[in-house]
Amino acid sequence: MAKRISSHRMANSTQPRFLDYTTARTVADQFGTPVYVYDEATLKTNAAAVLAFPNAFGLTARYAMKASPNAAILQIFRKAGLQIDASSGYEVRRAIAAGYEPSQISLSTQELPEDFAELYEAGLEINACSLNQLERFGKAFPGRTIGVRFNPGSGSGGNNRTNVGGPASSFGIWHEWIDKVQAIVAQYDLKVIRIHTHIGSGSDPAVWQKVSGMSLDLVRQFPDVVALNLGGGYKVARMANEVGTDLQECGAPVAEKFREFATETGRKIRLEIEPGTFLLANACSILSKVQDTVSTGADGYEFLKLDTGMTEVLRPSIYGAQHPIYILQPEAATTTQAYMIAGHCCESGDILTPAPGDPELLATRELPVAQIGDLCVIDGAGAYCAAMSTKHYNSYPEAAEIMLAANQKPHLIRKRQAPADLWANEVSYEG
Ligand SMILES: *Cc1c(COP(=O)(O)O)cnc(C)c1O
Repeated sequence: MAKRISSHRMANSTQPRFLDYTTARTVADQFGTPVYVYDEATLKTNAAAVLAFPNAFGLTARYAMKASPNAAILQIFRKAGLQIDASSGYEVRRAIAAGYEPSQISLSTQELPEDFAELYEAGLEINACSLNQLERFGKAFPGRTIGVRFNPGSGSGGNNRTNVGGPASSFGIWHEWIDKVQAIVAQYDLKVIRIHTHIGSGSDPAVWQKVSGMSLDLVRQFPDVVALNLGGGYKVARMANEVGTDLQECGAPVAEKFREFATETGRKIRLEIEPGTFLLANACSILSKVQDTVSTGADGYEFLKLDTGMTEVLRPSIYGAQHPIYILQPEAATTTQAYMIAGHCCESGDILTPAPGDPELLATRELPVAQIGDLCVIDGAGAYCAAMSTKHYNSYPEAAEIMLAANQKPHLIRKRQAPADLWANEVSYEG
């Protein structure tokens, strides 16, 4: 990746969300770094907020487990009452292994698994996400019930990599192909019982209202539909200057739309939602260490090099995503310094301080003057971090994961990978 330097300077608040120096020190000494630290209390608070989403005729709330699929997280959410949105057949298997019933799992996938029939017979809910998927399902299960995921034609994702609706998105069946859907449904005598739209509704109640209206228009075309799934994509404020989603505020106009629909059609539609980011983003920190410092001179920059990077958090490198970064010291330093923060991979794109929304540009962070060995916390690292990274690049082993219980006691929920496991699946070649 080519890099130009920008003059951005991002401010940083002073305290991590839930890791203080003492807890961080304990975790680092006991489990080493880099390590993901999840906060059980935050996970439970977020689950309760999702389950309180306003609705007119009932709610099924699912955790989009691709955000972070560790069984410990799945089990906390299962006990809290959340069901599962799976994005692959493998995720379905993983959720079942973690204790979920197949009937508590809904699959919306880009790649319908070969064994979908077996999973469906076991109770899995399937949303057909393409005309070909619908056809395959119809052939296997004529006369049975299915959900259909539509692309309703507009999205609100942050950029072209997070936008999940509109003509540039391959997710779901394009809304203009309703006739083709109806033809397949008729051919195989299918019952469409759920409409699914996931276009990243963001944090604006007006967008939510528009999206639920468009989605209910799709429901209108399918008389057997009993549930509408509006997906996830609720924005979360990781940085102090970002705007998060107020679920009560965004849900109120949605519930109103469902009531209007019932008045007009007599159909009481159940609401489904399936956030990932909202539940996880601020519930985890990456605890790392400063392992080197580098200067590029008076006209250059002061770099902190961490013992983590794109191997644990890829979002800054691909989205220009901003994560709060803190240096934790026993006695807080009185002087600060503008730092560029680099990851540990031999890759110029492994930078933790890109300019906001632009991974091609760099920004500095004003932080306490740091020394080699200082603890460094990267906040907002719960969603799409452990689950989505360049794991194993430069042959760094998979980092450990910790769950911080309500009493602040750290529990290991994934071991740090042993180096030999990196090449355990390789088969020797004799030539
Ligand atoms: C990824 C995904 C979600 C969750 O999205 P977030 O932005 O993490 O809330 C929900 N539904 C589907 C179908 C998804 O693919």
